[in-house]
Amino acid sequence: MAPTLPRHIEALINKEGPITVARFMAEALGHYYDRGEPIGGQGDFITAPEISQAFGEVLGAWCAFVWRGIGRPSPIALVELGPGRGTLMQDALRAIEAVAPDFAGALHVHLVETSPVMRRAQADRLGRRPVWHDDPSDLPDTPLIVLANEFFDALPVHQLVARNGAWHERLVGIRSGGGLAFEIAAEPSPLAGSLPGGIDAYPDGAIFELNQAAGAIVGEIAGRIAEHGGAALVIDYGHAASATGETLQAVRNHAFAPVLDDPGEADLTAHVDFEALSRAAGEVMVHGPTSQRDFLIALGIEARAAKLQNSAKTKEAREEIATGVARLIDPRGMGTLFKVLALSGPDQPAPPGFETP
Ligand code: SAH
Repeated sequence: MAPTLPRHIEALINKEGPITVARFMAEALGHYYDRGEPIGGQGDFITAPEISQAFGEVLGAWCAFVWRGIGRPSPIALVELGPGRGTLMQDALRAIEAVAPDFAGALHVHLVETSPVMRRAQADRLGRRPVWHDDPSDLPDTPLIVLANEFFDALPVHQLVARNGAWHERLVGIRSGGGLAFEIAAEPSPLAGSLPGGIDAYPDGAIFELNQAAGAIVGEIAGRIAEHGGAALVIDYGHAASATGETLQAVRNHAFAPVLDDPGEADLTAHVDFEALSRAAGEVMVHGPTSQRDFLIALGIEARAAKLQNSAKTKEAREEIATGVARLIDPRGMGTLFKVLALSGPDQPAPPGFETP
């Protein structure tokens, strides 16, 4: 039998020495997404497409609008990064088929997903045969429209700690009595050069989370948009401006758990640094971030909810639609915690939801 993940991580540390937080996160999440269904009421956490079908539907309408705005290219890749159970793509495709059959005829679905278990869930959900990719670098060389909801928060972050005027990497090692514990690398980190501003601006003990994987993926997508045309939409919780602060968290059964406990059994995420994503976009146009609330309202999610309510058969179904959409746009909850960023080609109009009034 393969060793359990905690044993595997301890063996790794015994062999290579303490590992970075990013390596720990990658090992733990690689196991986590392959061990069963993490998303939904029975899982550990719930996401916007699982709360209301209106979410994926208005995103599908957004894609159709963008496609028309860039001159209706055919073929075009409709890409989702980290599609989870495939619910968002399923809802988006249904809306696209209803409002833009010409776009439906031109698009090919491409899913960027590393987990075989999640790929199976997506295959079960989607009527169309998608093409799967481990990362965006082998997407086809065509125009593309990319959706990513709660994807970037699942990518591994490095944590750098300010100490005596230098950034040191935070590591995961083994405590003398056994078990995992955080420690700080003795030598300053070569990653310090990737951080904004001088170290002098930061007090001792400040933690900066650096998501190199997110930067690389945004750079890859932006390069493709610049070369072939298209757009991307990133929705996630996080901060508009780069800042220090520890946001790495573990969630299990809809509750917080200690990060180093039971690796591979809890979802690990870190807040997304939208300023860093914007920097990684390079030459293409960046729109936002705006709040999920403003974005979804601009896209007409309330009218969509009203329409769904009109055709709902029971009072319970009508109430479920109302509470779901209210949750997505709640100004004290998901509506402001979640932010939306778009990328578009240099000579394209601002995509829906980002036009300046
Ligand atoms: N977007 C979905 C699910 C988000 S969970 C929703 O809104 O419900 C994160 C998803 O990203 C999972 O499908 C997970 O398997 C996938 N994933 C995590 N790390 C990844 C990586 N490095 N490359 C590709 N997919 C990844």
